[in-house]
Amino acid sequence: MANKFRTLDDVDVKGKRVLLRVDLNVPMENGRVTDATRLERVAPTITEISDKGGKVILLAHFGRPKGRDAKESLKPVAEALSKVVKKPVAFADDCIGEPAATAVAALKDGDILCLENTRFHKEEEKNDPAFVAELAKLGDIWVNDAFSAAHRAHASTEGLGHKLPAYAGRTMQAELDALEKALGSPTKPVIAIIGGAKVSTKIDLLENLVSKVDALVIGGGMANTFLHAQGVAVGKSLAEKDLAPTALRIMEKAEAANCAIILPVDATVAYHFAANAPSHAYGLDAIPADGMILDVGPQSIARVHAAIDDAATLVWNGPLGAFEMQPFDRGTVAAAKHAAERTKAKKLISIAGGGDTVAALNQAHVAGQFTYVSTAGGAFLEWMEGKPLPGVEVLRTK
Ligand code: AMP
Repeated sequence: MANKFRTLDDVDVKGKRVLLRVDLNVPMENGRVTDATRLERVAPTITEISDKGGKVILLAHFGRPKGRDAKESLKPVAEALSKVVKKPVAFADDCIGEPAATAVAALKDGDILCLENTRFHKEEEKNDPAFVAELAKLGDIWVNDAFSAAHRAHASTEGLGHKLPAYAGRTMQAELDALEKALGSPTKPVIAIIGGAKVSTKIDLLENLVSKVDALVIGGGMANTFLHAQGVAVGKSLAEKDLAPTALRIMEKAEAANCAIILPVDATVAYHFAANAPSHAYGLDAIPADGMILDVGPQSIARVHAAIDDAATLVWNGPLGAFEMQPFDRGTVAAAKHAAERTKAKKLISIAGGGDTVAALNQAHVAGQFTYVSTAGGAFLEWMEGKPLPGVEVLRTK
């Protein structure tokens, strides 16, 4: 196993003060949590530690406050969390110092305490050693269950791992297992579907993927840049024409690595960037000069289906078209449904991640049918780029 992490199976938490880093960045409106998905994700780890008699001390950031700011207090989140885990969740007004120490000292085995937003202290993002030491005083062990924050080397996401015995929580463990299955030691052949608006934000990702996967489907606005680089006239489509050399370099690298690049073979074109704008499918040799490619065309959809059929593992980030506007969600939804069917038929391991991708899979009503869907945005992308994530590296057994 390439992935060796200590998990909750490797520690007896009973009676221990467990500093548990979680992601509590839930959407809020008027002081109320409007979507509890992230709370549901971390609930199993909290419940397990509590049920085993550990003292659960939650550490999390919320938003991007500059210093203490009541609007970004975790207090209402702690209340919402209490409803999700169906146990009381106490709250301390600070994550260090006297308020935190007193609240921790009052904990009995199995109790749960949420500490105030770690980012109320600027030292959190600086991974300041003195701040790390203050946090470390409050716990006997550190459990990291916040994969979505693991691309940051902050005090509560990384620093603590050098001070206290460190373990992956169950959500982190599931994420790491899924990612290992996707690109670490996947069942071959592996296909990646990469879409989205721009090549410029995904150069590192594409470069890393061509050396790892057997086939790479490129869709969305970014495919236009590749088509343009190959001499296709893309009309008024979103395309980063100055990145044509980059696109060609990626294609050369793919060829050298035996990775098939699958570009659209036709396009759905409209004349306005608007929902329900009249649209037609065109071959690549006939894109109207005043038209905009807003989705892949029907032949491309068939091509993507066939490519998915050839694969044993799929990793997906980014929509194939401007999916927020109907009917330009057609390509994305069709591919998502097809991948879900292959997964259900046990022919495919399907892993998807990133904010827009999760939204697109939800729109296709198939998010629950994929093998694994990561809700982590930045961390998922950095992992796909092949970059080590500090909050994960610190958990590796040496
Ligand atoms: P990203 O954040 O890079 O994954 O890009 C997602 C965005 O790309 C979505 O908002 C889509 O609407 C947009 N997008 C995808 N395909 C196209 C396209 N052909 N033209 C313009 N925007 C697109």
